Amino acid sequence: MTEPIRINRSSTRKPKPKDADLGFGQIFTDHMFVADFQEEKGWYDPRIEPYGPLSLDPATAVLHYAQAVFDGLKAFRGVDGKIRLFRPQKHVERMNNSARRLCIPPLDADLALQSLVKVVDIDRDWVPSTVGTSLYIRPTIIASEPFLGVRPAKSYIYFVILSPVGAYYPEGMAPVKILVVDKYVRAVDGGVGGAKTSGNYAASLFASDEAKHEGFTQVLWLDGVHRKYLDEVGTMNIMVKIGDEIITPPLTGTILPGVTRDSTLALMRKWGLKVSERQVSIDEVVEAHGRGTLAEVWGTGTAAVISPVGELAYQGKRMVINRGQIGPLTQRLYDAIVAIQYGKAPDPDGWTLTI
Ligand SMILES: *Cc1c(COP(=O)(O)O)cnc(C)c1O
Repeated sequence: MTEPIRINRSSTRKPKPKDADLGFGQIFTDHMFVADFQEEKGWYDPRIEPYGPLSLDPATAVLHYAQAVFDGLKAFRGVDGKIRLFRPQKHVERMNNSARRLCIPPLDADLALQSLVKVVDIDRDWVPSTVGTSLYIRPTIIASEPFLGVRPAKSYIYFVILSPVGAYYPEGMAPVKILVVDKYVRAVDGGVGGAKTSGNYAASLFASDEAKHEGFTQVLWLDGVHRKYLDEVGTMNIMVKIGDEIITPPLTGTILPGVTRDSTLALMRKWGLKVSERQVSIDEVVEAHGRGTLAEVWGTGTAAVISPVGELAYQGKRMVINRGQIGPLTQRLYDAIVAIQYGKAPDPDGWTLTI
């Protein structure tokens, strides 16, 4: 699609919150990006509009059968005042992969990238500047055809909304307690675990609610077949350091191919560390803990970047990791990625796109 992006500016401006008052995903900017799809036309009418409600027929397919995908990335205001998107091309590629898995027509990659750049540019004053804050970008595609029936819809809406978000760790990075669940599963081989599709999150709520009631921050999912191998934690990928080997589950379709996971692996390989993408069983983790070789555990994801795990609970047994403190590699990874995001360190691999 080569259609130019139409711009309909908002006639009013919302008041901007103070950086210190920012939470996550509660406040939205003045504009949004929208494009439509119809079978006969393909994707058409890409535009920027004032932020506002979508009007949907109650029969709209997405409301019933959850044919929807999304992605999530961030724009940062650097120490040099420039605004950088972190690996937007990789997020576009993943959104299109998620779309194909849900029978949603993918977007032209250039248009999708432009949609992110243009809408952030128009609302660039909304990118907060305090260290740790950012502008969260949420591209989403939903089936918009009003019909009841289980088949791919014939029309879709793509939109991008923006939300200024506060520092994930306002008081500094803090280790979390995670419950390893074997009663529920998130994904199975051949399923949709590898797609960022809405239904996965609805399906995860029950287990994470239970974990929260028991005092844990999140759940660690085991594989859906043996309930034995680590999959991922909440909405983050998981990494464990046993001895001098850093292990993370391979991308076999049951876990989300995280962009932070990919960035983290690239950095550790560059640093010459021993990195393995292989299955790791909870028994191996328990055993390593018993031997004293379970050095560090952390999650990776756009929201937190790196989330240190201070404790894992499995079948009533609690394993404290690194005395509940942030491990040196966990800290090093966090610092390295954040430095690139805020323009404090060189970006040799071109991960950021300055706008
Ligand atoms: C989004 C997400 C991740 C992390 O991906 P990033 O690209 O690093 O943000 C991991 N797991 C799940 C289930 C997710 O939804």
